[in-house]
Amino acid sequence: MRYRNDLFQSTNPPKNETNNTQKHLFIGVACAALITISYAFFAEKFEPSAPETIALTIPDITTKIEQTGGTKTLITELGITEVQPLTAVNANTPTQSMQSLSTIWQEHKVKSGESLSAIFSSNDLNKLDLHNIVHANDISSQFATIRPGKSLMIGHDISGELSHLIYKKNAYAELKATKLEDGTFKVELLEQEVDRKINTATGVIHTSLFVDGKNAGLSDNIIMQLANIFAWDIDFALNLHEGDRFSIIYEKLYIGSKLIGPGNIIAAEFINQGKSIKTVRYQNAEGKASYYTSGGNSMRKAFLRTPIDFARISSHFNLKRKHPVLNRIRAHKGVDYAARSGTPIKAAGDGKITYRGRKGGYGRVVIVQHGQKYSTLYAHMSKYRKGQRVGSRVKQGQVIGYVGKSGLASGPHLHYEFRVNGVHRNPLTVTLPNANPIEAKYKADFLEKSKTLFEQLEQLSSTQVAVAHISE
Ligand SMILES: [Zn+2]
Repeated sequence: MRYRNDLFQSTNPPKNETNNTQKHLFIGVACAALITISYAFFAEKFEPSAPETIALTIPDITTKIEQTGGTKTLITELGITEVQPLTAVNANTPTQSMQSLSTIWQEHKVKSGESLSAIFSSNDLNKLDLHNIVHANDISSQFATIRPGKSLMIGHDISGELSHLIYKKNAYAELKATKLEDGTFKVELLEQEVDRKINTATGVIHTSLFVDGKNAGLSDNIIMQLANIFAWDIDFALNLHEGDRFSIIYEKLYIGSKLIGPGNIIAAEFINQGKSIKTVRYQNAEGKASYYTSGGNSMRKAFLRTPIDFARISSHFNLKRKHPVLNRIRAHKGVDYAARSGTPIKAAGDGKITYRGRKGGYGRVVIVQHGQKYSTLYAHMSKYRKGQRVGSRVKQGQVIGYVGKSGLASGPHLHYEFRVNGVHRNPLTVTLPNANPIEAKYKADFLEKSKTLFEQLEQLSSTQVAVAHISE
């Protein structure tokens, strides 16, 4: 998909209007003549104030749009529905760039496993430009962390040379590289100011976390976060009880007056069968965030109880089981989860792959070693996760393979084993070690910052009980 647009700079901030579109059109420096034209246009629409770079969000463009001389024409043609100010985050003084009057833009959707270098190759772009972009300054290396599904906007000047590269990181931040006269690039992180507004919600379980969460006004995303935070303590599918309650404090993200999406849950309490669990999110100085109890213990365990979603237990751990295929007594030293073929299988904990291959009746097997004491085994896979091998380090929850029926299996399922010091233990009942508590160096900071949040949770919860009594 290609389109053309004019580039110019306006000193007039825009008025916010609504829109949901993905692509951004940046307006940079051009020439005096165009500034005059653009000013004339913006003057009718926006009140003048402090100078700012302007980004225009434009809807899907499927046709090639010819430059017709006036910015106004272009904007009308593109049907722009939103104009928002962006502020440059890096402290570099703005440099005069060699943006021409016309830039030809091309969108590249990042595919899974695709690097910036691969994108440069597939689009016939100059490797020297790639080097200059990635090494432009401190933030330019962020171009190397592009993620699948996101868009890169590639801008060429009239001569076909790369003049701009824009990576839209999320709903409010973009990384922009602009070619300078000497062939190097200026790289800036353009961010819109995001307001994190704090909300609270409480709810009582009557049906399910999903239904009652919705009734409490929570979005799907926040309900998923809530389920993930308490996943190690509460089985939301099997172990919820009528009258269980939750209270949460969470963020909603705004740009201006426009809601752009959910933020994080920053504190939550869940009362399951009368037992209260409270937690607060803490982000350390290195930017790593996790949820902790008031004493600084992690809400996570070192292992997932179940290394697969969308499955049901089809056979329990049983040392005297009659084997369904061999039809004789043979210990079943793991748990079987029936699931559709191809369902992802996750590493139960952080560790290292020590075996990946066929193993008799187990078919395709992966074994992960977690420190000295623990190991987990995953059998009957249809295929392994690409890019991993014996010796690969895996993180808890990382996909390592897919459900199948390789080896001796009557149907697609995961056979999962958990060993402690080499001895098979029942994965469903074995005591799982806690994930690491908050690091000692952050403990004081955590206690100080979390205190108010735990108090607010307490207050929220007691208000909920009081309201419930009044309505009875
Ligand atoms: Zn089994």
